Amino acid sequence: MYWESPYINEGIWLRGNTHTHTTVSDGGHSPMETALLYGKVASTGRSPNMDYRFLVLTDHTINTKPELFELPQVEGLTVIEGLEYSYRGGSHIVGVGCPMVFDGPVEWYDYTRKDYQRFIDSIVENGGMAILAHPHWSRMDHWSAEDAIELNGYMGIEIISGDVFSGPSNLATDVWDAALTAGKRVWGIGSDDFHSTRDFHNAWTFVYARDDSKEAILDALRQGSSYTSNGASFGKLYADGKWIVAECADDSYYHDCEKTFRFIGEGGVLKQTQVGKNHTAVYKGRGDEMYIRAELTLNWGCSAFSQPFFRI
Ligand SMILES: [Zn+2]
Ligand SMILES: [Zn+2]
Repeated sequence: MYWESPYINEGIWLRGNTHTHTTVSDGGHSPMETALLYGKVASTGRSPNMDYRFLVLTDHTINTKPELFELPQVEGLTVIEGLEYSYRGGSHIVGVGCPMVFDGPVEWYDYTRKDYQRFIDSIVENGGMAILAHPHWSRMDHWSAEDAIELNGYMGIEIISGDVFSGPSNLATDVWDAALTAGKRVWGIGSDDFHSTRDFHNAWTFVYARDDSKEAILDALRQGSSYTSNGASFGKLYADGKWIVAECADDSYYHDCEKTFRFIGEGGVLKQTQVGKNHTAVYKGRGDEMYIRAELTLNWGCSAFSQPFFRI
């Protein structure tokens, strides 16, 4: 083997949102209303690329109203418990697959990396996965490249945040590439950071999972059998010998549009570009890469971001 692929061999693509607020903290809709929005409104039935199949409820650890929390059951949608560590004056960490912690508001405090490491460790000890949330939210550096390099045990970085107040500064592939270049095995995650319908359906993560159970979805997130998107969809992502193969989804929405495939490596350096209507792009290993990840951008501006393939 030449590349270590994070993708499982046989699975199904399931789209989900990993960062969701409800009336349990500062969201505008109850857990059930929010789950129904993702479970029904987005289920067009026209294309698997348009449906939501899982949702992680991640209310803030401050200003929570525990009495309003109940994990909703919605047919066709796997709802998963989580939280967002968000103390006053601190940067945010999303926990996926761990119980909600109902901590009350605390005074403003200058949080250190040691505190953040404690939050990550707590999420992991409770069976969850930690994600460094929205590094550039509101045009600030909530998570610097150095933070991403120095912190340990987290699963991913939110490279796209759909919160509209993030504005054009919400792309955080710079922090991600810095972590990957430092040798971290961490995954790129996209989410709505949903608070109300203004945030709905802006960014998401697809998992390539063995089935639609909670366990299979969490396993896929944990091992990086996933990709992040704000409108473009991959069909297949795999390694074959020295080749990395990235295919656009076989979906009528994407057939006739021009596509740009970019292969990006260590330091966020662009290694190869392909522009055209072709559905497939391949990258051949040259022997000097640490990792390669693929980006697919459609001619109307939407993109999808694969996870990195590491050189073995
Ligand atoms: Zn946040
Ligand atoms: Zn949030």
